[in-house]
Amino acid sequence: MEKLCAGNWKMNGLKRDAAALAAALVAKAKAEPPTCELLICPPFTALGAVGEALAGSAVALGGQDCHTAEKGAHTGDVSAAMLKDAGCTYVILGHSERRADHGESDKLVARKFEAAQRAGLAAIVCVGETLAQRDAGETLAVIDRQLRGSVPDGLATREFAVAYEPVWAIGTGRTPTIAQVEEVHAHIRRTLVGMMAGLESVRILYGGSVKPDNAMALMHAANVDGALVGGASLVADDFWAIARACG
Ligand code: PEP
Repeated sequence: MEKLCAGNWKMNGLKRDAAALAAALVAKAKAEPPTCELLICPPFTALGAVGEALAGSAVALGGQDCHTAEKGAHTGDVSAAMLKDAGCTYVILGHSERRADHGESDKLVARKFEAAQRAGLAAIVCVGETLAQRDAGETLAVIDRQLRGSVPDGLATREFAVAYEPVWAIGTGRTPTIAQVEEVHAHIRRTLVGMMAGLESVRILYGGSVKPDNAMALMHAANVDGALVGGASLVADDFWAIARACG
């Protein structure tokens, strides 16, 4: 299946810098048509400027979170319908930083997933264990619980992705071994297949300190269908090198 290389810009990028970074990626995609699907997820405030820079290009636009409701009295929140209206086709849900900073539970993530589904956005559902959970031998149980809890019961779409992001690998420069990545990805694949027919084609991304120098090995590991990239997605050359490794 075609891999997905997704950039999560997190809380980085004023409009002008964000548009310039997006334009640099568009120029690269024009010069060398990508062999994988490309996606960037800027902060909400830069969606407009980045969306304009991406117009007509091979690079898709996504949000980093959405609310469970379509509209209403939810100060500071953004709905899936608003993301769609801003030109997004994807939304990242349940990132470990949101689970930690905002106390997001699997149940809440599942409700956000339903909202994304209603709006026609493809969710990228993040799961991952902490170092303490890995050291305690709980990794697969944690992944299992998060995955089953974060995918809604009334799933009506196969258009979503799962990102395995070990919390201890995010922004740390540390990555799991290829064997560890393959063990978790195989487990996610088995779990998805057991959940519903047709989910064998759901892409399973790896995220956590993906860099140009480790991307080739990570992206060629079994059951790795792409990358969710944080820090390295803020540098056009680095993100592009990772996208090439996805090809
Ligand atoms: C992320 O937070 O989604 C991520 C993968 O970050 P980084 O690549 O910086 O570890």
